[in-house]
Amino acid sequence: MKLSKFGEKLTSHSGILSLMDDLGNALADNDHMIMMGGGNPAHIPEVEDVFKQRLRRITESQSEFTRFIGTYDPPGGDQSFCRELAAMLRRRFGWKLTERNICLTQGSQTAFFMLFNMLAGENAQGEKRVIQLPLAPEYIGYSDTGITEGLFAAARPDIKEIDTHTFKYHVNFNTLTVNDNTAAFCVSRPTNPTGNVLTDQEIETLDSLARQHNIPLIIDGAYGLPFPELVFTEATPHWDEHVILCLSLSKMGLPALRTGIVVASEEVITAMSAISAITSLAPNSAGALMVSDMIRDDSIISLSQNVIRPWYEERMAFARNELHQQLGNLPWAMHKPEGAMFLWLWFKDLPVSSLELYEKLKQRGVLVVSGHYFFPGMQDDWPHKNECLRVTYTRDPAVVKQGIAIIAEEVRKLYQG
Ligand code: PLP
Repeated sequence: MKLSKFGEKLTSHSGILSLMDDLGNALADNDHMIMMGGGNPAHIPEVEDVFKQRLRRITESQSEFTRFIGTYDPPGGDQSFCRELAAMLRRRFGWKLTERNICLTQGSQTAFFMLFNMLAGENAQGEKRVIQLPLAPEYIGYSDTGITEGLFAAARPDIKEIDTHTFKYHVNFNTLTVNDNTAAFCVSRPTNPTGNVLTDQEIETLDSLARQHNIPLIIDGAYGLPFPELVFTEATPHWDEHVILCLSLSKMGLPALRTGIVVASEEVITAMSAISAITSLAPNSAGALMVSDMIRDDSIISLSQNVIRPWYEERMAFARNELHQQLGNLPWAMHKPEGAMFLWLWFKDLPVSSLELYEKLKQRGVLVVSGHYFFPGMQDDWPHKNECLRVTYTRDPAVVKQGIAIIAEEVRKLYQG
């Protein structure tokens, strides 16, 4: 097969592909693997019941059933859903928007693919522009979305030590690049992989820099605000005309329905709908219809706050506690777990690379993710990049305990030489 540049770029061995392959192969090789590597949402019975009931009502109504599986929506997605969501966002947060500020995509991953390539890369004048990631580590899923090379740039964060075993990354505004070549800022909030939640102050400063330079600030709220609200700290939802807020129904428990939601200026929404028409005709209708009632009566927010968030927070607290007990006084630290579904562990001056540690753990039947994947756009040869692991804590507590015990055993052996 002879490939175009586009074909070569998207089929070459990308970080996310090798990671997903490795996770899949490890699982296929060994049913007893302790899976602490993936990003699947938890299957919370109370949440599943809500969706089961809704699904029953949809199948009992001929008109809803037809909308569910039998009709193409417009390229920007179900307009009545967009209208309801705009009304909810106005009602709850006072954001000045209408349905023309909202479109749906096939999962938010697709929205990022469209946005990054629409805004960055080479323009008609031959100028090359990049997406600046103000806070690294950042979501690995961004790194290979560019149809051209070098779409991302990132610099080292500030590291604030909170106590012996806890730290937090902050945006380093002294080294943050923003110039004529900057196409947009993009931050995930909460951040995958670290569970960091950028402070309101950081978001405000990024917002005013973006406004000053007339570029968009993309906020990836896949785990965040206002739903599914996997946020365990104070943080305010943020949107403005030059903010592109990307939401998703995946971490609510609906990843298979592939529904991403973009809230942005009318100009951005019109452009994205045009791309959607070409690449997929229309987005999936099922996700929007599943949650439309919950948007209308705000119960998407109460379910997030009263059921989903507490469930994750409890699992996080259990795993954090176990780590403290098992790792004790080894030279380790954890990013302050402020959200999402991961703990980010830093093993200072680790005698091997995080990838080697990952391999050792895989041999022992524990699957985590090596931290080195999560620095898209950072060329800097920073040792920290090879000293971290991402650990998913959503499994059964007994399994998480067992996994953490093995991690601690292997790490102790390494430090003891
Ligand atoms: N953004 C972040 C930070 C993620 O972790 C993910 C998936 O795990 C996505 C976006 C994409 O999610 P989806 O395409 O399911 O909406």
